[in-house]
Amino acid sequence: CQNLVKIYKVADELEVMALQGLDLTVDKGELMGIIGSSGSGKSTLLNMLGGLDRPSAGKLIIDGKNLLQMSDKALVQYKLETVGFVWQNNARNLIPYLTARQNVELPMLLKGKRKKEWATELLELVGLGNRLNNRLSELSGGEQQRVAIAIALANKPQLLLADEPTGNVDTKTADIILDLFRKLNRELGVTIVIVTHDMQLTQKMDRVVAIRDGRTSSEILSRKYFDEAIIDDSEYEQEHSH
Ligand code: ATP
Ligand code: MG
Repeated sequence: CQNLVKIYKVADELEVMALQGLDLTVDKGELMGIIGSSGSGKSTLLNMLGGLDRPSAGKLIIDGKNLLQMSDKALVQYKLETVGFVWQNNARNLIPYLTARQNVELPMLLKGKRKKEWATELLELVGLGNRLNNRLSELSGGEQQRVAIAIALANKPQLLLADEPTGNVDTKTADIILDLFRKLNRELGVTIVIVTHDMQLTQKMDRVVAIRDGRTSSEILSRKYFDEAIIDDSEYEQEHSH
């Protein structure tokens, strides 16, 4: 992203500048975290990266192609083939009366080819090999979230975008899900961008970028910063635990 701007029209004369000239480079094969306070523009950025909405100005170049200059048809293809999404609450995007495997096969059908073996392989990858033929309604929230991750990978995207993917699960499940993202990143080579407010999870990421008021913060936060911040936290807890 170069000088990326997104303006929402809220009312006749009222506009919100959600991205105010944001610069960001995500390397191929990276697992990147994005943090920032509520309303800072994180979801807006993810929507731009995923081609769900068009930026108002600036450059957005993915794999050498400028998303702003893509035709509608090319954009649909991009959304279907290059990119995958995981949201905070995926339950509403899953079909409760279909089995886990049938849910994973749906995006493949959209692309024109159902591949039972790949759906099975993906569900095994996310640790649900023993739940293939259970209906979604029979799975726990954390399990449903893992089905959603398998769905996001169904069409073998190069880029996986996750908006607060662990926002609705307990810390243990959040840890399992992050480990899963790490595994997918290593084993399938998927580039992953995760929006989170969970500082513990950011420890496991390659890089963490902070967004403030629609811009990447000048301090691109390093791992070291977080390690120190987290040590500080535990010291605080030790001091205050009694
Ligand atoms: P949160 O952590 O609460 O999810 P966020 O960082 O994801 O926040 P965004 O959803 O990107 O924030 O919103 C950035 C700004 O743009 C906010 O001021 C928000 O109100 C505004 N905004 C987001 N989507 C729209 C929209 N569709 N129409 C109008 N304004 C919007
Ligand atoms: Mg958001």
